[in-house]
Amino acid sequence: MTVSVKDLPLHTPIDGRHRKMLIDGVWCDALGGRTFETRNPATGDVIGTVPLSDSSDIDLAVAAARRAFDGPWRRFKPYERQVLLLRIADLMERHWEEIALSDTTDMGMPIVRTLANKNRVLGMLRFYAGMATSIHGHTIGNSLPGEIVSYTRKEPVGVVGAIIPWNAPTAASIWKIGPALAAGCTIVLKPSEEAPLTPLLIGALMMEAGVPPGVVNVVTGTGAEAGAPLAAHMDVDKIVFTGSTVTGQSILRASAGNMKRVSLELGGKSPVIVCADADLERAVPVAAMSVFANSGQICIAGSRLFVERPIYEELVERVSAYAANLRIGDGADPETEIGPLISPKQLERVAGFIEDGTRQGARLVTGGHRLTEGGLGAGNFMAPSVFSDVTDDMRIAREEIFGPVISALPFDTLDEVVRRGNDTPYGLGAGVFTRDVGKAHQLANRLRAGSVWVNTYHAIDPAVPFGGYKMSGYGREGGAEHLDEYLNTKGVWIRT
Ligand code: NAD
Repeated sequence: MTVSVKDLPLHTPIDGRHRKMLIDGVWCDALGGRTFETRNPATGDVIGTVPLSDSSDIDLAVAAARRAFDGPWRRFKPYERQVLLLRIADLMERHWEEIALSDTTDMGMPIVRTLANKNRVLGMLRFYAGMATSIHGHTIGNSLPGEIVSYTRKEPVGVVGAIIPWNAPTAASIWKIGPALAAGCTIVLKPSEEAPLTPLLIGALMMEAGVPPGVVNVVTGTGAEAGAPLAAHMDVDKIVFTGSTVTGQSILRASAGNMKRVSLELGGKSPVIVCADADLERAVPVAAMSVFANSGQICIAGSRLFVERPIYEELVERVSAYAANLRIGDGADPETEIGPLISPKQLERVAGFIEDGTRQGARLVTGGHRLTEGGLGAGNFMAPSVFSDVTDDMRIAREEIFGPVISALPFDTLDEVVRRGNDTPYGLGAGVFTRDVGKAHQLANRLRAGSVWVNTYHAIDPAVPFGGYKMSGYGREGGAEHLDEYLNTKGVWIRT
């Protein structure tokens, strides 16, 4: 049975019912018949069950993606892929409220944010729709004797396995599916077991838009049972992964069997540097929300806040006051600014970091505790927290917390803050606040991170590449570079 979006309860995405997964255009259960529950992190309620798949389901999905790649999808012309991607974007736009609500209920991001993400997500689809008709190689002059013409062709890599985290399910799904389809690849998407519902909804919208069976498959399951076999699969040509650095390392090892291409968007411990000459009206909210947006569950969280010593006390106080005034609650409430953490386990993990920070001598200026009053007890709510008197060697200054915790550190000179800012195994993002354009350029050049934002943070655009240095991964999402990740370059020689 092929499905359409009408089969899904789009207007009641929180009905607790069982959803099937999408393989070869068919909604199906796991071959083993197992399922797992997904919960609303704000209330603890079970909001659905989905198939718990294993390597046999992955085999089916990869085989379907291969058949589609070798069959109908290969015959789609660039213009047809472009039109299809634009149709998907239009359909998603019409259903954006359902998509936003689905993300909010499955992973807790406030509805104001999931609604506001529309342009960022659809912009990506439309950007790569535009690029589908601009994929081209070059004619290259060669120095061989005789008349030999040489040129390059750009060809789709083939079957892509995409493994994504839970902290932005819609964006992560589309940032993989958009360029993969534009390039002419087929895809097996493995959502996080913590938030599988919206990727399934996106799968339904793909079918409704007319994506041929097998071109987009969505297989639900855990990292160990579904993600690992996808990463190791001998018939997958490329893995694109967003998630933690530790998982990225095991994916890289698993991919060695057939030398598949891999791109990795991993964790971070990004520095935000506030110079004494900065516009603090701007710096305070942006520095605070660089971490507290999505309750700190952001890969580019600016969790190390370096502040030039003359303004250190004032800035810490103002960021802490800002944190203490944020409205925290169920993300479904449009007034909510900060939602819950994804799971009780993550709540416990963040609490462990806070305990460590205090034990190691940092001073907790605000937050540091779980929130249980006013109906929050059933969810995983942690107060936005700011530590002062942090030193570079403390665990809270070194490890990715993935929770609402800022570590504030004073600095005295630019050379010093560059050295300390770069003193991390990660290199995903960095922020700089200054009115001095020379300092801005100098810091943008010297900070070893894939994105540097000056007097702003979090700005993301489909045309601008995003990705990591060092252990934050490699490969880029956004821009022409991203499309290239889904293409092979072939050299062709013709003796005339
Ligand atoms: P995670 O690494 O635990 O899981 C990510 C995905 O990998 C999930 O789908 C999971 O099921 C799967 N997985 C787990 N083990 C696997 C294995 N051995 N083989 C194959 N797949 C496996 O990450 P998470 O907790 O879901 O997300 C948080 C992490 O993601 C943070 O470290 C964060 O910084 C990172 N992240 C990075 C970016 C970025 O763009 N750089 C964006 C968002 C999140």
